[in-house]
Amino acid sequence: MTATFARPPEPAPPVVRPRAPDGPAHGLAGATPEVPPPAHGGLDLHGHEIGRHGAAAAGAPTLVVVAALHGNEPAGIHAARRVLARLARDGVALRGSLVALAGNLPALAARRRFIDHDLNRAWTPERVAAVADPTAAPLPADAAENATMRALYGHLAAAMSAAGGPVHVLDLHTTSSRSAPFVLFADTLRNRAFARAFPLPMVLGLEEQIEGAMLNHLVEQGCVCVGVEGGQHDAPAAVDNLEALLWLALAHLGMLPPHAAPDLAACRDRLVRARGDVPPALEVRYRHAIGPADAFRMAPGYANFQPVAAGEAIASDRCGAVRAAEAGRILMPLYQGQGEDGFFMTRAIDPRWLDVSTALRQLRVCRLLPLLPGVRRHPVDRATLVVDTRVARWFPLQVFHLLGYRRRRWDGARLVVSRRGHDGA
Ligand SMILES: [Zn+2]
Repeated sequence: MTATFARPPEPAPPVVRPRAPDGPAHGLAGATPEVPPPAHGGLDLHGHEIGRHGAAAAGAPTLVVVAALHGNEPAGIHAARRVLARLARDGVALRGSLVALAGNLPALAARRRFIDHDLNRAWTPERVAAVADPTAAPLPADAAENATMRALYGHLAAAMSAAGGPVHVLDLHTTSSRSAPFVLFADTLRNRAFARAFPLPMVLGLEEQIEGAMLNHLVEQGCVCVGVEGGQHDAPAAVDNLEALLWLALAHLGMLPPHAAPDLAACRDRLVRARGDVPPALEVRYRHAIGPADAFRMAPGYANFQPVAAGEAIASDRCGAVRAAEAGRILMPLYQGQGEDGFFMTRAIDPRWLDVSTALRQLRVCRLLPLLPGVRRHPVDRATLVVDTRVARWFPLQVFHLLGYRRRRWDGARLVVSRRGHDGA
C-alpha cells in the first residue's frame, strides 16, 4: 500500500543530515551515585512506585514522573532512580513533591511493549471511567493491562489529590530506532512553557494522531504534561538524557534549593549535544497505522528525524512497497514486533510561529474565528468549531493548530476542530 497524505505538498524543509547514533554514556559530571546499568529485567520493582522525595505543600509544585508505560522501555526507571538516589544521599530538601511511577509492570517483567494491549492507548474516556469506578461496568478480566492500569490510575489520582499546587507530569519513553531525544505534548500554552525548559526538539500534533494516550487524559485533568523520548531503548545514553532532563525539570519548577543539583549547565549541554541538528520544532503530518494482517516491515536503517524524499520506499507490507507521498522527516519507524504505528511523518516548522501563536492565544483571537466565512461554532460544544473547507479553503489546519485547536475528525469536506482544555495564558 502506498502511503497517502491528507494535505498537498509544501516546500520541503532544508535537508539536514541525520545525527550520528547515540554515543557512549558520559554521565553527569561524575556526580551521580552508582546505579545498575540499564539492562532489561532485574528491576526489583515491588509495585508501581519507584520512589518519592519531598512532600506536597500548599502552593508548592508536584512533579510526577511516569516511566515504562511501555514494558520494553526501562530507561526512565533507571533515570528516576538515579535522581532519587542523589536526592536521598544529599538529603535535599525539595520544595514540593517528586513522585516516580512505573507503568506497565506485567510487560516490564516480560520485557515486552505490552501483554494484551498498549497501555499508552488505553486512556479513553470510557476505559478511564471503568477504571475510576470499579462498581461501574467492569473491564474485561482477560487483559493483563486492566489491573495495572487501575493501580496506576490510583497512584496518579492520589498524587493529584495530595498536591498543594500545580501538578506537572513527565512521561518517559524510548524508541525502537536510533533517535535524538525529543519532547511531545498537547499544544497548550502551559504544556509548551514546560516543554521549553528542555533544550530539545518539540514535536507537535502527535497526540492528535493517537487515541487513548495517558497524557491526553492527564491534560484534561488539569495537569501540565510533557512526553519525552530519551533515545533508543537499549542505548545507555537514553538513561543519561532522561536523567539530565529530570534535573532540568526540578530546577525549572523551582523545586531544588540552590546548589542541590548536579551541574545544570552540564545537563543542558548534554541534551544540546544529543539533539544534534534536528530542527527545534516539528509538526506531525501523517501516521501510518498498521495491523497484524498488514505484514508491515520498515526498511532497515532509518533513524528518527531522518529526511525522507517524496516517493521513497521506506517500508513494505503485504501489498508491496510503502512510499512516502511527500518529503519530510520520519518519526518513530517501527523496529519492534509490537505496535500500531508503522511510522509518522513530520515537517519542520519555524519556531517563530510558536511565538506568534502564543501572542494570538493571549489576545484570545480564537473568539473571532466563528465570524469567518465557512466557520461556525458547534451547536452543543462551545469549544468545537465546524469548518466547511469548501468555503474556508484559504484556512488551513495549521492556523487552527496555532490557535490551540486540535483536529477531531474530517466529516466529508467539513473539518471539526476543538479547543484544548486548560489553554489559558
Ligand atoms: Zn513508549
